[in-house]
Amino acid sequence: MRRANRIPLSPLLRRVKYYFDLLKKTTDEYLFLEDLQEGLVMVSSNLVQDFDLPSEVIRDFDAHWTPLIHPEERAGYEASMRSVRNEQGIYEQMQEYRVKTRKGEYVWLRVRGQVGTDRDGTPNLFAGIVSRMAKRNQADEVTGLLNKYQFEHGVKMALAEYRATQEGGAIMVFGLDNFKIVNETYNRVMGDHVLKRVARLVDDLLPSQQTLYKLDGDEFAIIYPGAGEKEIAELFESIQACLSRPQDIDGKQYFCTASAGTVFYPQAGKDYLVLHKHAEAAMDLAKRDGKNRNCLFSKEQYNRWVRSISMRDSIWDSVEKGCEGFSLFFQPQVNATDQRIIGAEALLRWKNPKGRMVAPMEFIPILEETKLIIPVGKWIFEEALKTCKKWRAVIPDFRVSVNMSYEQVKDLSFQDFVGECLKRYDMPPESVILELTESKIVADWNFVNQQFDRFRSNGIAIAMDDFGTGYSSLSSLKNLSCDIVKIDREFVKKILETNFDKKLVASTVALCHSIGIKCCIEGVEQEAEYDLLTKECHADTIQGYLFGHPESIENFELKFLEPLKTVKQ
Ligand code: C2E
Ligand code: CA
Ligand code: CA
Repeated sequence: MRRANRIPLSPLLRRVKYYFDLLKKTTDEYLFLEDLQEGLVMVSSNLVQDFDLPSEVIRDFDAHWTPLIHPEERAGYEASMRSVRNEQGIYEQMQEYRVKTRKGEYVWLRVRGQVGTDRDGTPNLFAGIVSRMAKRNQADEVTGLLNKYQFEHGVKMALAEYRATQEGGAIMVFGLDNFKIVNETYNRVMGDHVLKRVARLVDDLLPSQQTLYKLDGDEFAIIYPGAGEKEIAELFESIQACLSRPQDIDGKQYFCTASAGTVFYPQAGKDYLVLHKHAEAAMDLAKRDGKNRNCLFSKEQYNRWVRSISMRDSIWDSVEKGCEGFSLFFQPQVNATDQRIIGAEALLRWKNPKGRMVAPMEFIPILEETKLIIPVGKWIFEEALKTCKKWRAVIPDFRVSVNMSYEQVKDLSFQDFVGECLKRYDMPPESVILELTESKIVADWNFVNQQFDRFRSNGIAIAMDDFGTGYSSLSSLKNLSCDIVKIDREFVKKILETNFDKKLVASTVALCHSIGIKCCIEGVEQEAEYDLLTKECHADTIQGYLFGHPESIENFELKFLEPLKTVKQ
């Protein structure tokens, strides 16, 4: 039990107590009265309750109250109270500050008070109302935006709105790319400035029916009722546009793009937790797909994301067990003029622990991201070389093409490994071709060329893979030192219908030939394509389903080497 009202009231307070008690019943706000002459304060019981004050009548009020005020606002409070109590002719007061509640958390309070005077004009009473600043208590500390709890509330409101009107909408969550680098390069204070700047820039471009929220860390969210794919694309473009320039804060430069994930409700979920989880997963995919983009949530993509998370663990396991579950398939490559098999591309396959074959498009990015491609790449090379050696007994000039990730180009130990392997298996360097996807080379041309030249000076041929799918194919042709260009299936697909594509392939081949580069055309599926590619485009080698699918070693031997074996014997 609280020792309420043990302290006797002053005559002035006793006189107004009746009204004070009546007023208390009319409001949820906190009320206070101070007898300025006596230094005695009377407060409403809810204030006692919520802030753990000793009683409703307090003699040395500030001794109890000031310690509860947030240190940042304490001096301001003291100065303001001095002006009220020292009869400086200030009769009206408005203050906002944070105070610690009984539960130990700070809430923002707004205090409005008025000083009353006696007949002589001497200040005698200070009366007022203290209200909780609901809006501010829902705000994110750094940016002042509504916080994650309000986001949850907002999503629930949007879903309620949907149930009432059948109008759905979109929720976009976005995070800043490389925000960690800003924090690491400068400090957290700078990080906070960046968050504030982004909050302001993005908030300014939103129309009033959309709300920007601040979630944890560097993440923000927008609820956009009524939005479809078009509106979301426009919204993201405008966010990208306002973050596309390097920014300057107090002379310090930073550059932070954003990656977003968007869910449409009710399609992606009808409850807050599901929607939020799906939006976060979509954002994670956007980051993995190269950042600075928005990924729209889809069930398929979500499943892909879940799979990639569990796949990562299984892949680690496989690699630790000496590449268990990995195998190589081989797809034949034929000489364009006589269709003779002259080699094969080694294509990696992986069986997950349940025995299901997983597509390379799914697991190769994980191998690259985790850098496991480095040990697995060595395994691939050795397996491919062993197989090549075996098949050379049947086709003496057989060459195996091995894919190489950019990670492996950067790993200098790969080159030594390749050299050692050739020695160990007593194989000539002409028996292997290393393929590198042209579109992956974004970094340093000089460095890449240096590495390529080292391979080439040792007699190992380099092929530029997927030519034509990158951003700067022609310039890469000029800049990269390679021996073979593999023209992507994209061009072959339309070669029969469009004259332009045919001309493009023909002139690319001619250009390559003029600088001593051979051309391999990928993805040839039809006889008619083959005819055109050889007769009009003058391709050197062909790889495609027309001549063979990727096959296991066993099947490759059965399909492509057995007949030759019997002929030779
Ligand atoms: P890529 O290097 O461009 O390999 C050719 C892909 O095209 C193979 O897909 C092959 O099966 C497919 N293909 C071949 N001929 C045809 C055709 O006539 N029609 C069609 N529609 N497709 C054809 P796959 O085996 O799924 O490999 C996909 C990609 O995965 C490869 O593309 C390569 O980038 C990567 N990859 C595969 N194995 C390795 C590897 O050992 N190391 C690295 N780093 N990447 C690999
Ligand atoms: Ca390839
Ligand atoms: Ca390719």
